[in-house]
Amino acid sequence: MSQPTSSAPATNHGSAAADDAVKQHNFLRNIIERDLAQGFGAERHFAGTPGDAAHHGAGPLDPARIRTRFPPEPNGYLHIGHAKSICLNFGLARDYGGICHLRFDDTNPEKEEQEYVDAIKEMVSWLGWKWESGQEGQAVSHLFFASDYFDFMYRAAEYLIEAGLAYVDEQTPDEMRANRGDFATPGTNSPYRDRSPAQHLSRFREMRDGLHPDGAMVLRAKIDMAAANINMRDPALYRIRRATHHNTGDRWCIYPMYTFAHPIEDALECITHSICTLEFEDQRPFYDWLLSHLADGGLLARPLPHQYEFGRLNLSYVVTSKRKLRQLVDEGHVSGWDDPRMPTLVGMRRRGYTPESIRNMVEATGVTKSNAWLDYSVLDIALRADLEGKAARAMAVLDPVKLKLTNWTEVFGSAAHLEACQAPAHPHVPEMGVRQFQLGPELWIERDDFQEVASKGYFRLFPGNKVRLKYGYVIECTGCEKDAQGQVSSVLAQVVPDTKSGTPGADAVKVKGVITWVGASDAVAAEVRLYDRLFTEAQPDLGGRDFLEVINPASKRVVQAYLEPSLAAAQADQKFQIERHGYFVADREDHRVGQPVLNKITGLKDSWAK
Ligand code: ATP
Ligand code: MG
Repeated sequence: MSQPTSSAPATNHGSAAADDAVKQHNFLRNIIERDLAQGFGAERHFAGTPGDAAHHGAGPLDPARIRTRFPPEPNGYLHIGHAKSICLNFGLARDYGGICHLRFDDTNPEKEEQEYVDAIKEMVSWLGWKWESGQEGQAVSHLFFASDYFDFMYRAAEYLIEAGLAYVDEQTPDEMRANRGDFATPGTNSPYRDRSPAQHLSRFREMRDGLHPDGAMVLRAKIDMAAANINMRDPALYRIRRATHHNTGDRWCIYPMYTFAHPIEDALECITHSICTLEFEDQRPFYDWLLSHLADGGLLARPLPHQYEFGRLNLSYVVTSKRKLRQLVDEGHVSGWDDPRMPTLVGMRRRGYTPESIRNMVEATGVTKSNAWLDYSVLDIALRADLEGKAARAMAVLDPVKLKLTNWTEVFGSAAHLEACQAPAHPHVPEMGVRQFQLGPELWIERDDFQEVASKGYFRLFPGNKVRLKYGYVIECTGCEKDAQGQVSSVLAQVVPDTKSGTPGADAVKVKGVITWVGASDAVAAEVRLYDRLFTEAQPDLGGRDFLEVINPASKRVVQAYLEPSLAAAQADQKFQIERHGYFVADREDHRVGQPVLNKITGLKDSWAK
């Protein structure tokens, strides 16, 4: 049995060690371990003929290595569901000393764009995966494009026609639909099905040469119109579509169908374990049919790849359909693909989720044969676990009201006196250093840290009560001032002398409440964006409901806050824990040093559990 080896230089996971997260149940591991134990790939070599793209850059084949692939279609932005597939494919390759290909499944010219290719590459790297293997300087790239195999696919189609395994069908789309039958009714053969291979071949060449309009005919596999599995009722292999392709331009006016192209892509790249989501289970018989016929014809070498299906990842309070995500963007329900409320990876990155937290979350959820619904909170739990040990702490006031210390001059001798305070950047990581800030006669506190008449169990500021200003002094509340509308405009209190944190007198006065604060003299004004779930229902599109009807109106709230001065120098994308409030990130688009803009990633605890 092959175990992951940390010194396998030819794999493409670099030096990234397995995340420490518990490796949850994953039935694919059993399959791979069985295959490795049987030396499954002994005579594996590249198929196709020299000149095919698979011969370039795929690197020498090592029989003991598994090969997986992540095959996105470049027609949208990646989301959290794709992260599952990415981490699964690259993660298995990493763990078993194999190689994972990044392959763009770009066989549909109309919806695909370079913009998406670039964005997908950026996000796969951001998640921490590499599609190069080998040492620096002699790295081998495992980046592929399905469109590089169009020549091979065309030859494969001609071979099937010549072998009597494919035909050009000139029925109209409506006729084809009607003749396909359904679960209860077998299909009916097309009147064009029994023409000779020579006739089909010349028709297919006419299709390629642009002699027929779009949609006039398609190439179909000749299998069985009565098959119980509808996917085996002569599936379409090629269609006519005059569209400019992002890679091949106007060279082709016929394009292969996904079901035909995908198995060929896997075989040309010598993928060993082709892992996909459950909805492709019914396609597996065709996958095997196609590859074994092409191998019989000498176009592909055995052993052939095998397809395995797993249950997709669904998160509660989230939609992942590309169409629905596009609708949210196009109709302005969110600010763009990278809106921090979007489940896209660009959105999650902007929100402040770390690659580690996403990797750990998908790893911890395991791989099974059923589609699972996970609660959104698993992501926040993973985020907290990642940031708890490494994010610097800071104080900030998100709903500020002024606090005046009315005996300041009496205690410190001058109204201008400022008392230097400090706190560790991290309570358990002294190497992270200390934060400095100043306490003066005026400061900012949270509005709800004061009650004129205390409710039951309230231990914070109310007239006559003492609390500690964290890292500062004990103070005693004496009352408040109000504006013309009767709103509290400032809270009044007195410093209790000789009670500063860290001094011998600190414990002399016992208090039940500790509040956070920011000094008025050194506070940094900031915009803080408080985010919540984008939908109010766990399954936004349940039972065909219009998901737009359950958008959470409170999913974004912007407040003007005050931050402690250590945050003045924060860099975009830097993350920290604001004491009592949760984890925050400096927004990667709008934040500027000196003009902070923060996003709330998540609270310190799950506030939705109740
Ligand atoms: P569509 O095919 O509707 O455009 P898609 O989400 O399948 O959308 P692809 O680019 O084809 O998009 O997906 C790339 C890979 O990611 C596929 O192998 C797909 O199975 C996998 N994938 C997509 N969504 C999920 C999910 N929610 N959980 C796990 N894997 C997923
Ligand atoms: Mg897909």
